Amino acid sequence: MSGGRTKAIRCAACQKRIRAHEPDLILQDLDGGGPQKFFHTRCGGAAYAAVTEKLGGYLLTVRHVEAEAN
Ligand SMILES: [Zn+2]
Repeated sequence: MSGGRTKAIRCAACQKRIRAHEPDLILQDLDGGGPQKFFHTRCGGAAYAAVTEKLGGYLLTVRHVEAEAN
């Protein structure tokens, strides 16, 4: 592993990049330890639907970005 670049994160709903300054939703599948999925907060409906479908099977984290951060 090398380089300090932040890997581009794409929204699982609209496939567009989630910019570093945008808050996002992180959906983690607790069952199979699958990969995390990321969503724009505005695309979060899909994430919430998945959580509702499988209560307790997903961990949904909302990451807030500090507007004043540095
Ligand atoms: Zn999106």
